[in-house]
Amino acid sequence: MVSGASVGLNILLAVKQVPDVSELRLDPVTHSLLREGVPSVLNPYDRYALEAGLRLKEIHGGRLTVVSMGPPQARKALQESLALGADEAVLLTDRAFAAADTWATAYTLSVFAKTLPFNMVLTGLKAIDGETSQVGAELAEFLDIPHASYVRKIDLREDMQGVTIERQLENGYDVWELPLPCLLMVAKEFGQPRLATLQGYIRAKRQKIRILTAHDLEALGANSANFGLKGSPTFIPKVSPPPAKPPGTIWSGDPKDSVRKLVDALSREGFV
Ligand SMILES: Cc1cc2nc3c(=O)[nH]c(=O)nc-3n(C[C@H](O)[C@H](O)[C@H](O)COP(=O)(O)OP(=O)(O)OC[C@H]3O[C@@H](n4cnc5c(N)ncnc54)[C@H](O)[C@@H]3O)c2cc1C
Repeated sequence: MVSGASVGLNILLAVKQVPDVSELRLDPVTHSLLREGVPSVLNPYDRYALEAGLRLKEIHGGRLTVVSMGPPQARKALQESLALGADEAVLLTDRAFAAADTWATAYTLSVFAKTLPFNMVLTGLKAIDGETSQVGAELAEFLDIPHASYVRKIDLREDMQGVTIERQLENGYDVWELPLPCLLMVAKEFGQPRLATLQGYIRAKRQKIRILTAHDLEALGANSANFGLKGSPTFIPKVSPPPAKPPGTIWSGDPKDSVRKLVDALSREGFV
């Protein structure tokens, strides 16, 4: 890792491929997510981080590398990132990485990150499946750099040694200054992410996705005991689905009568 001034803007963006929530199903016995045959998409929160990286690159120049740790089909999320304008995509994939918790995921991503001359790391705020919001902060710890979450605006300092950011709060926003390199977890308030064009998809088809296995990361100095399930300290004793919602009430017949019943019900509950 080298500091900003010597390399220009060099952004690393971590993206996750997640199951399409509209098609989510639970295993009736184990209550775990059924992924087999479920279409996957680029994590929607990572689109905001990608948008942030692309806008920074458009203003300041530089390079945007996307990395994902996941099964081979995670290539699709990387291909979409390339179609949207990323310069390079890297997939960390190996059975040894499987069933990683957030700590093992962040460790594995950090081994690759340390091979790059990055001065900014971007992540989404959370993945819509695991939804822990831990990977960004843990990755920053492994890289020994400061981080900020809920980032809605990023201004790069002219000397490229730091950033001024805005962090979304419930009733306003914070302004923070961070030195580079740093890690920023981008919020959806950053702005509408762009859509990929047909030319983007055609260009992405021609771009190669670099594949790194556990063996490759070991050659870079990784400790394989920290990969996947065996490197994951998280233990999940039980998963319970939320209680089923009671059935709703349907009023049919005369619309005036139905509206009166609705207003009565709302006032009984104290809403009107
Ligand atoms: C072979 C294999 C199988 C896997 N199977 C599963 C699985 O079945 N279920 C599952 O949830 N995960 C799976 N993973 C991925 C890994 O275990 C999770 O990514 C990790 O636990 C992230 O937790 P989270 O979803 O709570 O992320 P969060 O902390 O909520 O994510 C925050 C941000 O961190 C970044 N991020 C998170 N995960 C990754 C990642 N994998 N790669 C790059 N960036 C990331 C994104 O920018 C994301 O927006 C698999 C990985 C491999 C290699």
